[in-house]
Amino acid sequence: MTSHKHTNSGRRRDITTFEECPESLARTLLEWYRENGRKFSFRRYCSPYHVLVSEIMLRKTTAKQVDKVFREFVERFPDLRSLASASASEVEAVIRPLGIRSRAKALVELARRVLEEHSGKIPDSYAELSKLPSVGEYVAGCVMLFCFGKRVPPVDTNVDRVLARVFGLDSLPQTARVSAVKDIYLSIMPDGLEREFHYAILDLSAALCRPKSPKCKDCPIRICCTYGKSYID
Ligand code: SF4
Repeated sequence: MTSHKHTNSGRRRDITTFEECPESLARTLLEWYRENGRKFSFRRYCSPYHVLVSEIMLRKTTAKQVDKVFREFVERFPDLRSLASASASEVEAVIRPLGIRSRAKALVELARRVLEEHSGKIPDSYAELSKLPSVGEYVAGCVMLFCFGKRVPPVDTNVDRVLARVFGLDSLPQTARVSAVKDIYLSIMPDGLEREFHYAILDLSAALCRPKSPKCKDCPIRICCTYGKSYID
């Protein structure tokens, strides 16, 4: 028998029985996200250019810091061509609050490479994207998933932490764990809601599933979580 706990809002339904987990995990995360998710400016943009730039900015920087800078950035450099024709110092003047000076030069270089090697069109192939400067596995995965609908799992330390805790993978060696996390990510990611689902995991990691002292008691998926269950029991 399944039952649902209603929260104060009366809308979100936490999972309350283990049997619900396989079927309800993604739905519950999405419901939690719709009530609690963070509304950053860069999340509203879908073009490969905007996703690429914002994900590069987000490296080693908080989303809050990027939020404000990104708004100014897209006003000043609305597309790849405007970024490619800018100087590194012009870009640096805008992204200075992010703190990593080399990023301005890297962004201009990236835009110029796309212009020269791909006629200004950001490639829709993971292999080609990964060859571009400053585009690592995670950034390429975000562009493929968010913009081209390709089921490539972008796994960063936050996604890794949440899914490793939920599925009890913490004790696996790093390489095996990341590979298992990617497989699980793909198996639970709902069709058509890939980006929302990704943000749901990220926001859960920021609000509740923090590296230290996760707030398992407030977590909507604690019943399904290996770590959360043992913590609560
Ligand atoms: S129950 Fe705890 S460890 Fe598990 S996902 Fe939620 S916050 Fe993270």
